[in-house]
Amino acid sequence: MLRRYVCGAMSQLPQDLAFAALHIEGFALGAPESVTTDLRCTLEHTAGPHQDIVRPLPDDSAVWAEWVGDEPPEALRVRLDCPFTDDEPGGTGDGCSQYKAHPGGHTWQVIDVLHAAVEAMAPEILRGAGYGLPDDTATP
Ligand SMILES: [Zn+2]
Ligand SMILES: [Zn+2]
Repeated sequence: MLRRYVCGAMSQLPQDLAFAALHIEGFALGAPESVTTDLRCTLEHTAGPHQDIVRPLPDDSAVWAEWVGDEPPEALRVRLDCPFTDDEPGGTGDGCSQYKAHPGGHTWQVIDVLHAAVEAMAPEILRGAGYGLPDDTATP
């Protein structure tokens, strides 16, 4: 099977847009910690702007930033969530975390190299930090 990867381009949300993301018309004022300013494109695409979610909104939508190349994002968009869920045989049933009509594969169809690496390392890091996660190979 051909492996498909997310873009992974990174950017920073300028302060004025971070402020604007808290004040979306028709929605309650956002909490500062609900806004993501370290952006990383999780789309599978080869053309068009990079995109990342900035703030989830209550009714199946979210605030997105898009940027081109090394330019910082210049505007925000409120987009509906992608309505697809992973209900293929053996799927997790999780919803796609992209926006409606996004380019490329849904979340479960593409590999995020960074996520995969963090997930693979996380148990070791947590154990190393003394959190003593339950050993999932242990028999009850
Ligand atoms: Zn991208
Ligand atoms: Zn999708």
